[in-house]
Amino acid sequence: MDYAATTPVDPAVAAVMGRFLTMDGIFGNPASRSHVYGWEAAEAVDQARCQVADLIGADHREIIFTSGATEADNTAVKGAALARRALDGRDHVVTSAIEHKAVLDPCRYLESLGFSVTYLRPGRQGVISPDQVLEALTDRTALVSLMHVNNETGAVNDIAAVARICRERGILLHADCAQSLGREKIDVGTCWADLVSLSAHKIYGPKGVGALYVRRSPEVKIEPLIHGGGHERGFRSGTLPTHQIAGMGEACRLAAERFAQDTARIRELRDTLERKLMTLPGVTLNGPRDGRVCGILNLSFAGVEGETLLASLKDVAVSSGSACNSASVEPSYVLTAMGVPRDLAHASLRFSLGRFSTPEEVDCVFRAVTRMVAALR
Ligand SMILES: *Cc1c(COP(=O)(O)O)cnc(C)c1O
Repeated sequence: MDYAATTPVDPAVAAVMGRFLTMDGIFGNPASRSHVYGWEAAEAVDQARCQVADLIGADHREIIFTSGATEADNTAVKGAALARRALDGRDHVVTSAIEHKAVLDPCRYLESLGFSVTYLRPGRQGVISPDQVLEALTDRTALVSLMHVNNETGAVNDIAAVARICRERGILLHADCAQSLGREKIDVGTCWADLVSLSAHKIYGPKGVGALYVRRSPEVKIEPLIHGGGHERGFRSGTLPTHQIAGMGEACRLAAERFAQDTARIRELRDTLERKLMTLPGVTLNGPRDGRVCGILNLSFAGVEGETLLASLKDVAVSSGSACNSASVEPSYVLTAMGVPRDLAHASLRFSLGRFSTPEEVDCVFRAVTRMVAALR
């Protein structure tokens, strides 16, 4: 019940990766141009680049491999803001208060470099409206960074509408799509974000690899964060991890192939769990009922300490707030920004389902939660 934190590697992905990890496999450096070991590795990287590009309607030349969505977010936010300021002096960034820390912390860093940042507050459902973005723009705005799907509530933002607003005004748009890849339709070919962050391990690929989509037309300039060797067309130096990249490619190919089937099945399981848990007294849904990604269910259990509930649900892997913050006892900053009262924010759990979730698991979770909530109350 914690697929939003990470997913198991699909067996088909592991099989592809294995071909790059054995003595008789493909071990060459994809940057080696002078022999067959390099060529075959480069060919595997090219194929994966096309598979990633295809899933979001991009050209393969617009994909830069990174170590994950955190690095992609950092490269997009800092790299694009710094390049834009150098170009025309624009030094304002618009984002939201409920972004992942991988966007919020780079924004804080930009503030330390003299940028001003507007942090939009979501509505009660956890959605940022295109109108809010429009109102926040100034003639100094360089970049808007808005997540497609929120990792705690599953709320979906209308990136296409925000993209139209930004494009008309020559403002760059970055979208963190770590939670939406393979779950919501993404098509950068139409008017969409200019920079898109992706992660492999949220879509049944390996940890430690992700990608940043960088639009070629109109061309987006970014200042690289990592220098040395000029790999990835100078955007991101370092020897490419062929096995990781091939794994991400296969994960994307599978995600495309299974899109309709996976999303429908996961949504049905999630809706069943939601319907059952909502029959308990004092349970409220955090996030929109419609306009929510298929696998996420965030509920508050009035009168119960979320951390205590979490600790008592020994056989259920579930989280309160996001995994990155569950070490702290502060309630989720996402829920509090949405206006959820602190006690209810403290009493919240995020269930997230995925490709390998089963009806039996949903049943088991419902019974365990029902039992624990009753006991703790
Ligand atoms: C998981 C996640 C990230 C970080 O991705 P990594 O690949 O683990 O660095 C960033 N943003 C969102 C919304 C996420 O869910």
